[in-house]
Order: sequence, then structure tokens, then C-alpha cells
Amino acid sequence: METKIMKKKQAGPQQTCGFVSYKTCLISPSHLSRHLTSSSLLSLPLERLFPPMDLRRRPPKPPVNNNTDGSFRSYQTRTSDDDHRRRTTTIAPPPKASDALPLPLYLTNAVFFTLFFSVAYYLLHRWRDKIRYNTPLHVVTITELGAIIALIASFIYLLGFFGIDFVQSFISRASGDAWDLADTIDEDDHRLVTCSPPTPIVSVAKLPNPEPIVTESLPEKDEEIVKSVIDGVIPSYSLESRLGDCKRAASIRREALQRVTGRSMEGLPLDGFDYESILGQCCEMPVGYIQIPVGIAGPLLLDGYEYSVPMATTEGCLVASTNRGCKAMYISGGATSTVLKDGMTRAPVVRFASARRASELKFFLENPENFDTLTVVFNRSSRFARLQSVKCTIAGKNAYVRFCCSTGDAMGMNMVSKGVQNVLEYLTDDFPDMDVIGISGNFCSDKKPAAVNWIEGRGKSVVCEAVIKGEIVNKVLKTSVAALVELNMLKNLAGSAVAGSLGGFNAHASNIVSAVFIATGQDPAQNVESSQCITMMEAINDGKDIHISVTMPSIEVGTVGGGTQLASQSACLNLLGVKGASKESPGMNSRRLATIVAGAVLAGELSLMSAIAAGQLVRSHMKYNRSSRDISGATTTSTT
Ligand code: ADP
Repeated sequence: METKIMKKKQAGPQQTCGFVSYKTCLISPSHLSRHLTSSSLLSLPLERLFPPMDLRRRPPKPPVNNNTDGSFRSYQTRTSDDDHRRRTTTIAPPPKASDALPLPLYLTNAVFFTLFFSVAYYLLHRWRDKIRYNTPLHVVTITELGAIIALIASFIYLLGFFGIDFVQSFISRASGDAWDLADTIDEDDHRLVTCSPPTPIVSVAKLPNPEPIVTESLPEKDEEIVKSVIDGVIPSYSLESRLGDCKRAASIRREALQRVTGRSMEGLPLDGFDYESILGQCCEMPVGYIQIPVGIAGPLLLDGYEYSVPMATTEGCLVASTNRGCKAMYISGGATSTVLKDGMTRAPVVRFASARRASELKFFLENPENFDTLTVVFNRSSRFARLQSVKCTIAGKNAYVRFCCSTGDAMGMNMVSKGVQNVLEYLTDDFPDMDVIGISGNFCSDKKPAAVNWIEGRGKSVVCEAVIKGEIVNKVLKTSVAALVELNMLKNLAGSAVAGSLGGFNAHASNIVSAVFIATGQDPAQNVESSQCITMMEAINDGKDIHISVTMPSIEVGTVGGGTQLASQSACLNLLGVKGASKESPGMNSRRLATIVAGAVLAGELSLMSAIAAGQLVRSHMKYNRSSRDISGATTTSTT
């Protein structure tokens, strides 16, 4: 989601490669001054006089604001942090036409226009006088020589600025940049531009040993399109919109890909997938789909309901192990869960001229008197978005504002972002000097390990607990209460502390979270924070039984939107009884899904910890994770 939001923002001034006119010449101030005084001007090659520069016809998007220190801050704005760092440290801003003089573009153009026409007028005048008084034309005064040089210089400038692009618009019809997605989307561009990648600046090594390609015999019409894609006449990304048939587009793209790379895609299925269902929302430029087996763990007895938990994984033992944990929980009476909090967050970063002004924004946003107004503005984004809190952190002149809202049954990243956008627009009245650097300032924090999620929570914060009877620990889990409690303390608590873990006080929560996320159409990248979990174990009833709990503050799940709509994922949600929007109360399905994730994690923790306590882990792996076909006895675990 985050990438989606940043996509348009990143199409800023730095994206010039798609429009570069490499042969375009432009006069730099130093060249101009040096050569206008030089008598050898006309003898110098053009390339030396006017070195090639990047020149975009389309003016770059304007900088957000002028920086007081006069640096090129606009190149550091509205980008992800990584890009930000890269640009601020290594990338100089691309040269512009206005670099010819230290003036804004329109003034530079005006100077050269005026120069060209006034000098042309002067020379014509002189020419007429010479004819009238029979003066030889080749006898020129210093002033006339200067005028000729000025005429040539201004002519070259104007030709470089307006003329070359006109010519190149014909030449470069087949040399655009198919990767310039933001621009192509903006323009709804159906021109013929190439889909070939730009020429790399380093030489690309060839991969060894391509396997023979099994080429499908395509209909003649498709064969022609494949050739056009390979030749760069039709951009690969435009196949869906051109053909109006997503499956055919995928098949043509795949064939072109095989021929261009010389590598076979055999084994990656093409048939049997609804390519229309992913168009414009789940995946671009498809060439097939990956098959991941889905296993079932359960029944998971949670809050009085039985769930069969779908887990998409290729890791042997994982489903079997979780299944064993479910069994132990089931016999002991099941687990109970509580949703502590339900709110998705987004935190833009805004900058002011002073830390004082940034602090004023913080006081304004955190003032309870302003909350109702902010809520009205924020909630306009969706009938499901409901603002819960605003928290502002200051770093010098910069403010990071963490908005938190409920999002119904959607995971909610789009929804919260729209609400934040509304508030930022509203704030410009009271804070016109506020410079919005980026809608995401990483205080959110999405898809990165962060203490803020661990402490404050993000998405659904869930705690899930169960009491497992001592005899079940012995019979089913093949270990003892005391061994489990000790191992939990030394591994999940002390061990993770020794490792400096952030929210990783568990055995393998991410194993279960990832598998359930993939099966149910969640964003697997959010596994980073969704897997934050602390597993607690305590001997109770005089040491006979064990109380186990998992506390997971940031489970980010939804049952509408994104990948949840796709047929396979939707079937898995249906199996859990949480498909789509809740009819009873918005948010109920997604909250229930979060509790199921926590319940399955509890089962997984119980089983893996038991396996380690009993010393079964390696044995089990050697037996069942190394191509054994009989998994009937695989009850231990996967990795840790
Ligand atoms: P996300 O915000 O997780 O990226 P999307 O924006 O893709 O999700 O999907 C949410 C969409 O589903 C919104 O357009 C919203 O209006 C719609 N919707 C329908 N029913 C619900 C519901 N019960 N809860 C949340 N959103 C819902």
C-alpha cells in the first residue's frame, strides 16, 4: 500500500530519464562567458561549446517550497526514506534549461529571444547600409562580429530548447521508457513507445545455461503482437488495455519474455487463473501465477467456535506442528481471545521553518478541543474510517503526526491515507507555512520493525490465552509443564533480550502469521509487524497445568480489499466464516480474523516449544522435512 501511495509522489523532478534528449545542447553560463570573449569560438566543436545535457520538455514538478539555505531540498521531498537518503547523498539535481544563466527558466528564454531578434534586426540593418553604400560585406567591425556571435549563440540556444525536441518527437516515438509507470498512467498514453528497458550504465552479465524454450504455437495475430512487444513497438505493460483480454495479454507477455530472455517459463502455470480479477489492484504485468500448497490446521477451538485454519506454506512440519498445538488446546477446553485495540495508523512528516512552529502544530493537533473538527474532516474519507487519535512527535523543525483510525473490515491503509490527506489539506489554512514532506514519515510504521507498533499497536492488538492440562502436556506434547516454563523463560524472554529483539519474544509467530496471511489474501509484507509477539508461560494449579498466552499488538488484517477478493483467498476466508464485510457490524470479520491468527500462533508456540523442550526438533526435521512422504506422525515442528 505504501508503495502505491508513494508512486505518484515519486514521479517528481528526479524522473527525467524517460524524457531525456541526450543530444540536446544547452549553453552553460561558464561556457557562454568564456566563449563569447574568445576569438576561437567558431572553430570549437559544438560538443565542447555546448555539452549534451538532460533537457526535459515537460517542466519538472515544482519544488514544494524554497529552502532557507538555498539547497535543492525539492529533490529530497515526498519520497521514501531510502530514496531520500540516496538522493541527498549522491544525486545532484538534473540540469535544466535555465542553467544557461543563473535565472529562472522563463527569464533565460526571454533573454535569448530578445538577444536573437534584436541582434538579427541590427545585422539586417547593417547589411542594408552596406549594400546602399557599396561597402564589401566581408569587412566587419568588432561590434558586427560580436553581433554575429551573439546571433549564433542565441540561435543554438533556441534551437536546443525548442527545435531539437520537435525533431526528436518523431525520432523518439520508439524510444520512451516503459518503466516510467507514473507518467504513463498520468497520460493514459497509448502512443507507440518501446517496452525495452533503458540502456544500463553498467554491462549486464549473462546468466549461464538457459534451458531450451518450449514455444507455444500462437495464432498469427498474437505472433505479430509478440514480435511488436519484442521490438519495443508495443509496450508490454499496455497489453491488457490494448487487447481488452487479460489472459491473452499475459500469454503474449510471457511468450515475449521467454524469447527475449531465452529462458523457459515452463512450470509456472498460465491457465486456470482469473487475470481480470487482479487488473488494476493486485499485480501488474502478470505472466502466470505461483502455486503454494494450502494445509489445514485444526480444529482450533477459540472463543467457543471451531475453526479450520488454512495455511499456505512450503515449509514441511509447519502445518502438522500447528495442528498438534490445536489438538492440545482443543482437549484442554480451547483458547480465549481479546481484541485490545483496533486502529490503523498513518503518520505524515511535515516540516516548518522553526522547531517552534512544529511544536505549535503538535499542540494544535493534540488539543482535545480540536479533536472533533479533525474527526469531521478525517472521516469524510470513507463511511468506515473513524478517527481515534492523533499523536505528534517532533524532531527539530519536523513533525511526525501519527493518525489512528478504525477501518471497518478493511486492513485500512488506503482509507487512513485518504483521511490523512483530508486533514493535511485542512491544516494549510492555519499552518500555511507547513511543508508536507511525505504522507508517510515512517512513524506509522508500515512494514518495518518499529518500537512504536510494539508499544502503541497497529491494526488489531490481540491477546490470546489457554490453560493446558498437565496430562495433555505429557501425552500430546510429550513434555512437562516445568520444562516448558523454563524453556520459555530462557529462550523467548531472556534469549530474545540477549539478542536485542524488538517484539520477537516468541518461538516462531511469523511462521504461522505468514502462512495464514498468504492463504487469506493479506499483505505478506506486513508480516514484519504483525508477527510481533510475546509468548508467556506460567505453571498454575500447583504446577500441574500451564497457562500460555500470546500478546500480539500489531496484527494487520482485513477481509475486504486487496488480495482478499481473489477467488482462492476468498475461499479460505469463507472457510473461516469471515469472508467480506461483516453484516452484523463493520469490522467484526477482520477482528475475528485477527483473533484466529493469534489463536493459531498460540497453537504453533505450544507445539514448537514442546518439541524443543522434548529435544524432538532436529529429529523431526530430519525425518519429515527431508522429502519423507509419510507425515502421519509429524507432530513436532518447523524452524525457529
Ligand atoms: P485498504 O484500505 O485495506 O487498502 P481498500 O481501500 O482496498 O482497503 O478496500 C476497502 C473498500 O471496501 C473501501 O472502498 C470501503 O468503502 C469498502 N468496504 C465495504 N464494506 C466495508 C467494510 N465493512 N469495512 C471496510 N470497508 C468496506
